Amino acid sequence: MGNTDKRNLLDIAEQMLSKYPLCDQCLGRQFAWLSTDTSNRERGRSIKLLLSMQADEQIKSGDREGGLKILTELAGNGSFGPAGTLIKKNGIDPPSTKGCHLCLLEERSVFGRTSEIAERIIESTKNIEFATFLIGCIPVPTLAEREEELRALFSLLRGEPLKSDFNRELGKQVQKALGKEADFEHSDIVIVYNMIRDTLDIQINPIFVYGRYRKLVRGIPQSRWDCTACGGRGCESCGGTGRRYPDSIAEYVGIPVQSLAQGAGFKFHGAGREDIDALMLGSGRPFVV
Ligand SMILES: [Zn+2]
Ligand SMILES: [Zn+2]
Repeated sequence: MGNTDKRNLLDIAEQMLSKYPLCDQCLGRQFAWLSTDTSNRERGRSIKLLLSMQADEQIKSGDREGGLKILTELAGNGSFGPAGTLIKKNGIDPPSTKGCHLCLLEERSVFGRTSEIAERIIESTKNIEFATFLIGCIPVPTLAEREEELRALFSLLRGEPLKSDFNRELGKQVQKALGKEADFEHSDIVIVYNMIRDTLDIQINPIFVYGRYRKLVRGIPQSRWDCTACGGRGCESCGGTGRRYPDSIAEYVGIPVQSLAQGAGFKFHGAGREDIDALMLGSGRPFVV
């Protein structure tokens, strides 16, 4: 810190590009906490544009060698087209572009795959009813490690992790394609993209139903009561049913809720236990399923 705060952002970016190939997105992400109402891609591209302007100025004011050195880094490691054009204008062949050090997975940027992954998400959620979603991902450890290494090397303090950058970029695509909202607190479904395996996992969050029940006859237990002799397997004393009582409040309430929600199971919680022979009159006992 201290000293690093006074370092010039453009100088740091130039040093990074002299050492590593970095795409706009990944360069910009190292400065993600700086400024707002923009994107990491725009941050990265803006830095490269400014660096190429500085380099052009250097060349035009006599430091041809110094300017060309920076333009070569920008055109090669930065894959920045305008720098290549400037190099050509100076009568030199520009270097070939290089794949990004921080986001390349099997020769392709993980950010370049987001529209494709979004399409797969739309396909695999088409039979699920939901209004809000949340995107998560399991990043590739090697990419996360490289980023940590780079941040330590250049004392970068304003970056955000690849993971949250990727989640946001993918979330934008899904939001646009589905017309549904991303919700960071109470989403109906959570979609997790596994970068390592290139797979999707869709988790459907449980729904909660609150109500009150009245019990007008005696002899129904609140929760399912298995046969104490066989523990539910079925025996002589329970007539093979495995149960001590055939029904329960939990099932009378829970099973219709489960089938309405097309759920795979339910949990019933009554506000307080009650005796099998007790009645519940008046406004009833609160419950949550
Ligand atoms: Zn990248
Ligand atoms: Zn039994």
